[in-house]
Order: sequence, then structure tokens, then C-alpha cells
Amino acid sequence: MPTVSVILTSYNKPSTITKAIESVINQTFQDWELFIMDDNSNNETTQIIKRYLGDPRIQYFNSNIKDNERFKTARYATLINEAIPKTQGKYITYLTDDNIFLPERFEIMVNYLNQHPNIDIVYSEQHVKYFDDNFNLFDEGVRQAPGILNQPVCIVDHCSVMHTRRIADLVFHKYGSYWDDHPINWGAGDAAFWVRLTQFQPFYPIKKILDIALKYRDSYQNLSSNLPYVIPNGTLVRGFKPDIYLIDQQRRRKITENMLNPLKYSEEEVVRIPDPYLFRYEEGIPINHMVLIEPDKFPNQRLVKSPTNPIVYYIQNNKKHPIQSVEAFNNFKFRWDKIVEVNDEFLSKLPNGSMICPLANEIITLPDGILYQHQNDYYICYNNHLHFIQENTLNKLKLPKENAVEMNNDLFSQFKKGTPI
Ligand code: UDP
Ligand code: MG
Repeated sequence: MPTVSVILTSYNKPSTITKAIESVINQTFQDWELFIMDDNSNNETTQIIKRYLGDPRIQYFNSNIKDNERFKTARYATLINEAIPKTQGKYITYLTDDNIFLPERFEIMVNYLNQHPNIDIVYSEQHVKYFDDNFNLFDEGVRQAPGILNQPVCIVDHCSVMHTRRIADLVFHKYGSYWDDHPINWGAGDAAFWVRLTQFQPFYPIKKILDIALKYRDSYQNLSSNLPYVIPNGTLVRGFKPDIYLIDQQRRRKITENMLNPLKYSEEEVVRIPDPYLFRYEEGIPINHMVLIEPDKFPNQRLVKSPTNPIVYYIQNNKKHPIQSVEAFNNFKFRWDKIVEVNDEFLSKLPNGSMICPLANEIITLPDGILYQHQNDYYICYNNHLHFIQENTLNKLKLPKENAVEMNNDLFSQFKKGTPI
């Protein structure tokens, strides 16, 4: 039976998975087994993994998870829970596909645990490297190992820990599972497990850097930070694959690339989000050339106009809302270069919605998706409700603050407030 069981979780990191796997193979302490738990990665990633499967110490499991199921649990916690019962080592340790173990990691940790039979959990220091979109290093630092920790949450990363099987079994006995894979733990699944572990014992430090975390822009944590759980309608998003989707009526509608220009979308507006967020949304009617032929398929929150009719309409809830005047158009900071040209027949097939009037004190309809500023706060409007939105969320959603429409106290007090974004 091997001494160390390593659980490596993998999802679409072809540029770093090689380093992760080889950092296990290159350990000075060789009595290990490696479980590669792959969360149904793309071909490029699995082809790389397959090169290593000749080694009898390495086992591969593919979750075959369907994309639309991906959001239902914190996936890596689920994968770890599936792996632990398959492992046989006395000690268990975790690796992600964007982390590298230093060669002496197992040797040092195993020696420590062997020499301290009453200690079940050790952790070490971690070298963290941050890379920009062009894969250039722009910052780095060290996660220290400050001492014996009763509260290791946010201090210790899961790639810096080794614990005994014994303590994992105590956790299982008490909680009915090892890791808590509730989806709320997506951003910090290790933290939830640390809370369970420390019910039994604190974490003991090894004051030495034993692993390197490689932080790329497309890591789950980076992509999900400041991203609201409910992504507002009208947001353009993209997951790992290059496909662009519009969140429209809380569905994801795939936009054919050659439709971006005619519909006055720009690629700069596209927000990169983690796949589990993307696939949480049910797929809606695709946005392809048909949306210009069949008005009921046209995307919401767009301006349309026919060359023969002077009125500009705003599409909202699949209806065309006439914008009453140039004043109204300017009040809401609509942009002339964002108007989609359609023909009269197309317009006639769209049901009529209420008029969008200037932003005066007698307002009936506010257009959806418009950003407002009241004092120092920002709000986005849907269904005539103002939803508070934090500035860093605005940045994440690529909603420029300069586009915010100012609202005075009188106006502001007239509108109902919706749930914050
Ligand atoms: N992961 C996964 N399924 C997914 C997304 C991620 O198993 O759908 C795994 C991924 O392979 C990695 C871990 O979850 O081992 C953490 O992901 P990532 O490195 O992107 O997040 P972060 O480092 O920002 O927490
Ligand atoms: Mg990571």
C-alpha cells in the first residue's frame, strides 16, 4: 500500500496540467499513488493526461459530467469525495491542475507526520505567482505558515496540506461526507473542509515553501470574483470556449459571431465567466440571422429603427417601446450608433409596448438595463425596479460608470427598489 495518495482535480488547464503531474512524478519520495480526477475536460487536456497513464501508480477517472449539471455542486469537492474511497495511502494530499509541488514536498511532510504520530494535519508555505492575460508574470508572493492554526480558512490553500486517512474518516463519520460540495462552496471548498477538519485537530506548520500556485486570469476564483449570482439580462458572456452568449430573460442565447456587428454588440462588452456559471443558464433560442427575419426571436434591450419611420424603438420583454423624443433618447444615454436597422414589416410584427418618455417626475416606464447614479450609489433598472449594484460588480460586468444616468432624490424616491445585484 502506498504511503501518499494524491488527488489531482482537473478541468481544462492544458497549459499547466503537465507541470502538475510531473511535479508528482519528480518527488524525491516515490511511494505514492496519483488519482487524476478529470471533470470532463476538453480533448487537448485529456490527450496530455493520457501520456502519463502508462505509470501503474497513476489512475484516471473522468466524471463525464454534462455541462448543464456542472453548477450543481462545487465540482472539485465532489471529485475529491469520489476519489478518497478509492485511495489507499496512509496520508492524503491534494493538487490542482494549476499548481506545482516542489520535489521535496512528500519527503518533508511524510517525515514530519511519521515523526509526530499524534499530528494528523500539516501544511506548508506556498509560492503564489500571478500571470496576466498574455501569460506574463506580473506579481508574486508567499502564503506564510504562521503557526499552529485552529482557523486555517483563507490562510491555507488546499494544495499545501497533507492529512492522515484517520482524520478524514473522523470527518466522514461526523458529517456523512469528506468535503462539503454544496455549490455555495465553489469559491472556497477547501475552507469548508478546513472547518470540518479543525473540529478534530489544528493545522501544524512546516515553515518552508513546498508548492507553487499558478494564478491565471481564467481561474475560477478570478473569473467569479464580483460576478453576481444572477447575471443581469443584457450581459454578453463567454465561458472557456470562444462561444459568446447573451443573457436574455435569464437564458443563455448563443450569438453567431457574424451577428455581433449587425446587432451592434461589441466584443469588448463580453464578460468572461466560469463554465459552471454559464451552464447554469438554460439555453435559449440562438441569436443568428433568423432574429432579423422573425421578430419574436429578436434579442431584448436593443434599439431598432426602420429607414422609413423616424421613431426609434427599444425592445424590452419582446415588445417595441417607442422612444417619445430626442430628449427621452438622450436622457437615458441611448446611443445613436447602437441602433439596429430593421424594415417596416419587421416592426409591424412586433407587439407595441408603452412609450419611453423623458426622465421627468411623471415616469411610467423606465427602460430595462439602464444604469443610474443616485448620490454615490449605482442602480440598474429592470421591470421598473432599481437594483443596487456595487462598483466592482459594474466593472466586472463591463458597465461603464460614465454611462450612468443621474437621478435626483425626487425621482429616486418614486421607484421601487429591487433585490441588489
Ligand atoms: N474544477 C473542476 N470542475 C470545473 C471547474 C474547476 O473540477 O468545472 C477544478 C479545477 O480543475 C481545479 C479546481 O477545480 O482543480 C479549482 O479550479 P481553478 O483553479 O479554476 O480555481 P481557483 O484556483 O481560482 O480556485
Ligand atoms: Mg486554481
